[in-house]
Order: sequence, then structure tokens, then C-alpha cells
Amino acid sequence: MFPSLSRLILVAILPIGDSMKILIADDDPISRKILSKVVTDLGYEPIAVNNGEDALEHVKQNKCSVVLLDWMMPGMDGIEVCREIRRLDNEYICYIIINSAREGSDDIRRALKAGANDYISKKTDSIELKARIGVGVRTAQLEMKLIDLNHRLKHLVRIDSLTELLNHAAILKELSIELERGRRDGTATSILMLDLDRFKAVNDTYGHQTGDKVLIRFAYLLNESCRSFDRIGRYGGEEFLIVLPRTREEESISIGNRIRMRAETLQIDNEIANLRVTCSIGCCTAANSEKHSSSMVAAADSALFRAKKVGRNKVLSCK
Ligand code: GH3
Ligand code: MG
Ligand code: MG
Repeated sequence: MFPSLSRLILVAILPIGDSMKILIADDDPISRKILSKVVTDLGYEPIAVNNGEDALEHVKQNKCSVVLLDWMMPGMDGIEVCREIRRLDNEYICYIIINSAREGSDDIRRALKAGANDYISKKTDSIELKARIGVGVRTAQLEMKLIDLNHRLKHLVRIDSLTELLNHAAILKELSIELERGRRDGTATSILMLDLDRFKAVNDTYGHQTGDKVLIRFAYLLNESCRSFDRIGRYGGEEFLIVLPRTREEESISIGNRIRMRAETLQIDNEIANLRVTCSIGCCTAANSEKHSSSMVAAADSALFRAKKVGRNKVLSCK
């Protein structure tokens, strides 16, 4: 039998590396010892603390995934710690098990209302206790997987699958964000609209797969040519949009020319040594980031159109 204690206990499971660490918060040294043994028997590493403040600190610092709180520990009580944990970021995974000698339905209601996931009587034997902790670990792991999956989905939804650059919607969103930032800081924002020249002929001559390879290599070249804070997107087809934060017109033109010259020597495929590409680029700058994203794109697009008209493989800025 699990010994009867006159307090609630908070248990936390901490995912650190591959091993799960379970936090046990109880001011009674015998209870801490017994709970630590239960946790060790389950194959997890126990971390035992003797007050609510330390428990909360551990939860915050170690990103605990499951938790146990003593209702009447010295200082902060269990219910308070439970509420504090629930006030943390809603992506904060923490499965709280309360283990109490109090068995009244109102106590149970209060503990669950404060944010506990489970409530176990002190009379519960170690077999059931282990099973309940097991449920906590399983639930926390599932939640972690869901959050991870959610982050990956949020990332994937912004990425162009062929080039792994930002997609159309994502690059436009980045432009709006950078313009907003530029307006606040009073700095310039520039954009480059790039289009591969006579790309249809690449597909027609070498096939669509080689065309795809050109797009991938060109995207790589863009990444290599830009600074870490620049944003690069595939605007559509063989058109790309680059957002250059804190960049004045002359600098944006020189970045454009650097890209244009690198493209001229880009080796696409060892088997097709004579396959070469060029690109035309239209630039637009908002000196104090005062322009709207759509008018900037339209202006860069018309500069690009003129670059095509005057012979391609050119960088022109908007008038
Ligand atoms: P311009 O110099 O005037 O830009 O000529 P262009 O041939 O590059 O332009 P056009 O708009 O006539 O043709 C663009 C081509 O890009 C046609 C389309 O099949 C090709 N394309 C668009 N997306 C992809 C893609 O994902 N993969 C491949 N391989 N080709 C693509
Ligand atoms: Mg083209
Ligand atoms: Mg085009």
C-alpha cells in the first residue's frame, strides 16, 4: 500500500535528451523516497524537491512534461503552483498528478479545476500509481509529438517544395513584416524580382526534370548570395522575390548584379556542360519603407519587364 500522507504532491516529468526525468515535490522526506523508488522502478529518473517554489522553478527551467504538487507544502501551496503552471505558454506541456490524502469530491474538484490532469488518493497502491504515472508519460509524449508536428506543418505550409525557398504567400508576408519594421525604424527596404531568361527553352531542349534542376540550383545560388537576414521566396514558376531589409537602392542593385553575374557561370549539370542560364532582375526600394507591399511588387515587376525588353540578363530599378 502507498502510505497515507496529509498533503497533495506535485509530480513532473521532464524530457531531457532521450531520458524522462520525473519531478517529485513533497516536503516529507519519506514520501519523496517512496515516490522516487516508484519512478525509478518505472525506468525514469526522479528529481525530488521539498517545496512549491522549487517545483515551479524546475518546471520552468527543465520544460517539465508531467507534474505533482503538495497542497500544504511550506510557502507556495500545491494548488497555487498548479495554477502558475497553467498560466505558462499554452504550448507548455505539463501533466499534473495530484496525490492527496484528502478524498472529498470537493477537494478533487478544486485540484482538477486548478489545472491538474489526475488526482490520486494516498491510499492508492504502488501498482496503480505506476499505471497512472504511465498514463501521464504517454499523454505528455503524445502532446509533445502533436506540438512538434504542428510546428513542422506550420513550417511546411510556408515552403516551396521544389526549391525549399519561401512560397508565394510566405514571401509576401515577410515583405509586409519587413516594411512594417522598416517604417518603425525609419530604414529602407528593397526588393528584387528575378526571372530566369528564356526558361521555356530549357524545358523544351533538355526536358522538364533538367528545368527543375535549374530551379533548385538557382535557388541555392540565391541562398549563397544573400545575407542571413534577407528573405528569399519562389514567387511562382521561374520567378523569385527577394526582400532586402535595411537596404538602400544602390546596395540592392549591386546585390542584384552579383546574383546576375553568378547565374551566368552557374554549372547546372556535369552531363550538360553547355547548359547556362541568365536572369533578369527588377528592383524597387522604399527609402523609409513607406510603400505598400503590392505597389513595390508591381514596381519591381515593371522594372523586370523593362529589363527583359532591353535584352535580358540585366538589373533595372523602378522609375
Ligand atoms: P522570358 O525570358 O521572357 O522570361 O522567357 P521564359 O521562357 O523564361 O518565360 P515563359 O513565361 O514563356 O516560360 C516560363 C516557363 O517556366 C514555362 C514553364 O513551363 C516553366 N516552368 C514554370 N514552373 C516550372 C517548374 O516548376 N519546373 C519547370 N521545369 N519548369 C517550370
Ligand atoms: Mg522567364
Ligand atoms: Mg516568367
